[in-house]
Amino acid sequence: MPVKTQISFHNLKVAFASKSDSELKKTYLVFAMLNNKLVSDLGIALTKIGFALKLPIKGIMKQTMFGHFCGGETIAESIEDCQILAKYGVESILDYSVEGKGDEESFAKTTEEIRLSMVESAKTDFMPFGVVKVTGLGDYEIMTKLQSGLKLNQDEEEAFERCRLRLDLLCQTAHELGLKILIDAEESWFQDTVDKLTYEAMAKYNTERCVVYNTFQMYRADMLARLKDAKSEADRTGYFLGAKLVRGAYMEKEAERAEELGYKSPIQPNKAATDRDYDLGVEFCVANGVYLVSGSHNEASNHWVVKLIDQYGIDPQSDRVFFAQLYGMSDTISFNLADAGYRVLKYVPYGPVEKVMPYLIRRAAENSSIAGQSSREFELIKREMKRRKAAGSNQ
Ligand SMILES: Cc1cc2nc3c(=O)[nH]c(=O)nc-3n(C[C@H](O)[C@H](O)[C@H](O)COP(=O)(O)OP(=O)(O)OC[C@H]3O[C@@H](n4cnc5c(N)ncnc54)[C@H](O)[C@@H]3O)c2cc1C
Repeated sequence: MPVKTQISFHNLKVAFASKSDSELKKTYLVFAMLNNKLVSDLGIALTKIGFALKLPIKGIMKQTMFGHFCGGETIAESIEDCQILAKYGVESILDYSVEGKGDEESFAKTTEEIRLSMVESAKTDFMPFGVVKVTGLGDYEIMTKLQSGLKLNQDEEEAFERCRLRLDLLCQTAHELGLKILIDAEESWFQDTVDKLTYEAMAKYNTERCVVYNTFQMYRADMLARLKDAKSEADRTGYFLGAKLVRGAYMEKEAERAEELGYKSPIQPNKAATDRDYDLGVEFCVANGVYLVSGSHNEASNHWVVKLIDQYGIDPQSDRVFFAQLYGMSDTISFNLADAGYRVLKYVPYGPVEKVMPYLIRRAAENSSIAGQSSREFELIKREMKRRKAAGSNQ
């Protein structure tokens, strides 16, 4: 299929083609709520109270926030949503978004759930990845202790080994099923440990094709250099480097901890520096044979990656470059990129309604800022509703 390199992310007909009038109205209501911080905060507070008092609010959640940002409560329910995305050329990644209790039982349960999500994904041709957060598989305090150079006691050694084996099992599953797997990035104080496990897995599974991807948070001042080092190490050892680039989600937490413990924050001095390194990072990947997933809702970044694909002669339908956005966010970007012939992935979170609440609260906070992509999206939804009204249909 010929690809377009001049893309507008504001082509409303393409962006909202998958939504019926009533679905568009529901989306409008969710964004209208999120765009009002007071209403959004109140909604979160009432939902927490509702679940604490065991009130029957699950149905309301499924019709609103949960329905908008999650695929479903189970793998089977979520795949139905992924099928709809696939109709419009958008691929999916099932993302088990339950934050477990942090005990051995929950680590084992999460591992099995992610393994099952990959088994089901492999039965389709529109779900090419699995995804995992290593803190879902093992104790982050042990990872932190390791990174700080402290010696682990016997119990901790054994617990860490179990975590390593769980990650290995998931990477091996991806390898055997012909899938790929993304390892999410987390807080800087144990990210070195996550990296170590991830590169071990890459050395094992990325020798014939790119299976395992690490994540690089470009809001960290040292991340561009770390990305280049990772590529040198991959070349030296002889495996493909997979890199998901994101700006980074834990900025406030990073600053708070650095201040509390009196060390220099690893975060860039300002947003412009993060944006600059994001652009340089994706260019480094495209230009140097790194397998890239560009995870961003930023329109300029997405335009930049389109330009790089063209400039460096990458086949947009190959697995060299994927774009990625979260389900329920930036559909205008995802659907227009897919329509133009690029490979686009949606993280599709799923899990029991009450258990994905922390995920939903984070999405609410992220989308209730006045500036940025979400308010732009709200404007586009309003314009599409007007357009449909004037046209008398959604065509
Ligand atoms: C598919 C996908 C996967 C993701 N996986 C991960 C993951 O594994 N780990 C993770 O941490 N995050 C992950 N994220 C979240 C991602 O980090 C946030 O979506 C992202 O930070 C929002 O940035 P943006 O690129 O959409 O653009 P923008 O909205 O333009 O950028 C906002 C980001 O810029 C940075 N920023 C803002 N102000 C400043 C400042 N003053 N100084 C320095 N930097 C600043 C912050 O990172 C902030 O989040 C993922 C996102 C997507 C879409």
